[in-house]
Amino acid sequence: NNQKKKLGGCQNIKVVVRVRPFDEKESRGRSRMAVNCISPREIQTKDKKYYYDRVFQPDCNQLDIYSYVVEPMINDVLAGYNCTVFAYGQTGTGKTHTMTGGDPSSLSSLDWRRDEKAGCIPRAAANIFDEIASMKVNDYNVRVSFLELYNEEVRDLLNPDERQPPLNIFNDNKGAVFIQNLNEKNVFNSNDIYALLQQGTLRRQTASTLMNNHSSRSHTVFTITVHIKEADLSGEEVLKTGKINLVDLAGSENIAKSGAKDKRALELANINRSLLTLGRVIQTLTDKNNRHVPYRDSKLTRILQDSLGGHTKTCIIATVSPAYSSYEETQSTLEYAMRAR
Ligand code: ADP
Ligand code: MG
Repeated sequence: NNQKKKLGGCQNIKVVVRVRPFDEKESRGRSRMAVNCISPREIQTKDKKYYYDRVFQPDCNQLDIYSYVVEPMINDVLAGYNCTVFAYGQTGTGKTHTMTGGDPSSLSSLDWRRDEKAGCIPRAAANIFDEIASMKVNDYNVRVSFLELYNEEVRDLLNPDERQPPLNIFNDNKGAVFIQNLNEKNVFNSNDIYALLQQGTLRRQTASTLMNNHSSRSHTVFTITVHIKEADLSGEEVLKTGKINLVDLAGSENIAKSGAKDKRALELANINRSLLTLGRVIQTLTDKNNRHVPYRDSKLTRILQDSLGGHTKTCIIATVSPAYSSYEETQSTLEYAMRAR
């Protein structure tokens, strides 16, 4: 059944799993490995064997992930298509490390090309400008936006105003998405992008210190949009617009806690709405017979509506801890990820 789904399903959705190394606490507790990477595509736990497009072992590096997941998307973006990468997993398993990497306080000054800690966002930034330079196009424009979705409200991480009201999302009947008042900053080189990544990341961190669990309960979407004007074969001018969304999702542990009766129950229900709807949207897209895609059921999927399905590429990077102490969370992440294929 699995095999059938894989062959018949949409080839444009990849699901990979990244197992991080033991952290200090896990090493001190002499935790044993709860997951066994038995092949480049299989993970074995004590209960089950799981299959993915690729499994990245604890010793893999940032470049391995980038080369497999993001690099193949860059040409699509420059050709006018939309691509999305999600990091999904329990808090502390490496979502932000995978997407951003490095230390936010030095993000703008580091030489990302040389820094092996650099995650997918800075690498994509450098890659896009390198590719544009090699294409020798003259008429192009690159823009960046960086938003946070918390409790089903959209906040602009590139807006310095701490008290900005939540932003409204509009979808037209063709599926195009428009977020009112969201900053879309013009950038002229990769350093401009690192600087914006740093600004937004620090802003998100401030919110996290003020509000407990903020960063584990919010989703962030970093988007690089490329407009290229070119002459086609007949000399006609064509404008191509493509973008890549790099999404650092809320901690998946929030799903399990949805039964919580405390005052944060609504907040958790809202996190769940976006994570669960995302799962349903992806499953619907992989199933050719299913026509209705429930984009409108959550803010996250509304924001990404024009980048999921159709001529788009999507990759989910599911991040897990290797330790038995996280076994239940790991199992639930592995299940979510395998269902997405
Ligand atoms: P999350 O965003 O999922 O909550 P983080 O990315 O903040 O998790 O990672 C938690 C900690 O583990 C950080 O200190 C991070 O640097 C470290 N870490 C995560 N993944 C790796 C990895 N693959 N290799 C080395 N350190 C990692
Ligand atoms: Mg994080």
